[in-house]
Formats: sequence, structure tokens, C-alpha cells
Amino acid sequence: MTDNTVEKQPLTLLGLGAMGTALARAWLAAGHPLTVWNRSPERARPLAAEGASVAGTVAEAVAASRLTVICLLDDASVDEALTGADLTGKDLVDLTTSTPDRARALAVRADGRGARFMDGGIMAVPPMIGAPGSGAHVFYSGSRALFDTHRDTLAVPAATSYVGEDAGFAALHDVALLSAMDGMFAGISHAFALIRKEDIDPVAFAPLLADWLVAMTPSVHTVAAQLADGDYTREVVSSLAMQVAGNATLLRTAEEQGVSAELLTPYMALMERLLADGRGDESTTGVVDLLAR
Ligand code: NDP
Repeated sequence: MTDNTVEKQPLTLLGLGAMGTALARAWLAAGHPLTVWNRSPERARPLAAEGASVAGTVAEAVAASRLTVICLLDDASVDEALTGADLTGKDLVDLTTSTPDRARALAVRADGRGARFMDGGIMAVPPMIGAPGSGAHVFYSGSRALFDTHRDTLAVPAATSYVGEDAGFAALHDVALLSAMDGMFAGISHAFALIRKEDIDPVAFAPLLADWLVAMTPSVHTVAAQLADGDYTREVVSSLAMQVAGNATLLRTAEEQGVSAELLTPYMALMERLLADGRGDESTTGVVDLLAR
């Protein structure tokens, strides 16, 4: 429910794509005076009807508020949009998905133009924005003072998670989680490929797969604890030697089912390198070090 008794901070939003529009609606619904700008002006019209002020240029939009949130397609569109705007004394938050180095470079440039800067990584899809309990959250990093100033406003569309003064850390956390998700999707694809041509209902199989993935996720904490103390034999319940032996069964099954093992083999190759190093009694945590070298 919107609390109308507290004055809501005004802000500006650049970008009204799928994500930008969801963000805009969340701030408008919470009663924040909102100025919007979008390259194609027609996308701003429905929001104007919902109470947003529409700026004709980025310069005008940025001038309208102390805080400007950017949610554009990519780095190039952000650079193009910010050219020519006066950023002196402004607070900039870039939610456009990017890399850590890019976020750090933008922080330096914002500082040179007199602005405080934070980068953000959105861990949500548009329908989760402004929906309490959806699990949506945004990683923020960069100016702690900026975060403290605008914490309540930033918390309107999604929960906030401040991860450090290093402007690159939000993108790093974002991409680390997305990369893990890719690995999970790869595994899901392989699992469905294995049953694809059989008389097995994928809809009946799905909850079995989902429950198994959930049951395995606590291993994240074991990996973290092992990395923290450097003992990769700690709390090992499935040794590397056992898992490498099991890989042969996974590969043979893929062959029997006529399924390509191309998603599995790169990970298995790393496990075999560890085994060849005589680390069979460890967990698979050593893969982290092989990758990070
Ligand atoms: P959309 O493709 O829906 O919208 C892209 C936006 O960028 C539009 O406002 C578009 O303007 C604008 N734009 C593109 N090129 C330029 C340019 N050269 N100059 C100015 N504006 C430009 O993308 P989303 O809204 O979905 O995504 C926006 C950001 O949010 C991305 O970085 C994305 O990675 C991130 N994000 C998106 C998620 C999602 O599920 N959608 C999830 C998490 C993060 P125009 O209307 O004129 O084309």
C-alpha cells in the first residue's frame, strides 16, 4: 500500500523499454514524482497518462531531478544518451546490464563530470518489479553516500543489496549469478534431451528435476566454506574420484540415448585434470582454482 503521508523523492528515469517501463510504474504507483525520457517518445505516452512528466531531451530529464536512473539497452546507448547532459551535482544510477570494468570506467567519468555514481545489476524480469514477495532484487555498488541518500527510493521497485564501494562489484555479482544460471540451464537442457525420445512425460519429469536441483543447491555453501579455509577435503560426501568414475556412466547414457554430451564434457575435463593431479579425495572445488588461473 502506498504511504502518502511521507513526501516522496522526485527522480528521473532514462529508458522505457520492458524493464524501464516496469520501474517507472513501480515509482509512480508509490507516489514518486517521476520524469521520464525515452528515445522513441511514443513509449512515454501511457506513462504520461499515469502521472509521469515527459522530458523531450536527456538534458532536460537529468536537470529535473537530483537522482537519475538509467535503464537502456547497452553501454553504447548509455554513452550516447549522456552526451551533452549537465551532470554537475547529480546522482546517477546505471541499471543497464554491463561488465565490472565498464561500470568502473563510467564511475570515473561521472566523477569527472561532477556526479556521484552507482552501478546496479537487476536480478529480476519485468513482471517481478514492484511486486512484493516476487524475490526481485538489485545489486548496487559505487558511492555509498549516494546509496544512503536514495535508499528508500531505490527500494521501491525491488529489494536493494549494496555490495561495495567498488563500482564494478554490482555487475560482478550480477554476472556471477547469471553465469551460474547458464550452467543450470545447460544441465536442464541435457536432462530433457536424455528423456526426449522416450515415453516419459516432460511435464511429469519436471518436478523431479526441479526438486533434485533444489536438493543440490546447499553445496554452494560447502564450496564457499572450502574456498574460505583452503581445505577441499572438508565435509566431502562425494569424492572427486567417485564423481569422475560416475562421469563415464553419464557419457555412456548420453551415447545410448543419442544425445550430444557437448554441454557436459568441458566440466568433466576439468574434473579429470584435478584427478590427474592426485586430488581424488577432494570435492570438485578445485575446479574454481583451475578456472581462475
Ligand atoms: P528493451 O529492449 O525493452 O528496451 C531498450 C531500451 O533502450 C529502450 O528504451 C530503447 O529505446 C533504449 N535504447 C536502445 N538503443 C538506444 C540508443 N542508442 N539510444 C537511446 N536509447 C536506446 O530492454 P529492457 O528494458 O528489457 O532492458 C533494459 C536493460 O535492463 C538492459 O540492459 C537489460 O539487460 C536490463 N535487464 C533487463 C531484464 C529483462 O528481463 N527485460 C532483466 C534484467 C536486466 P527505444 O524505445 O527508442 O527503442
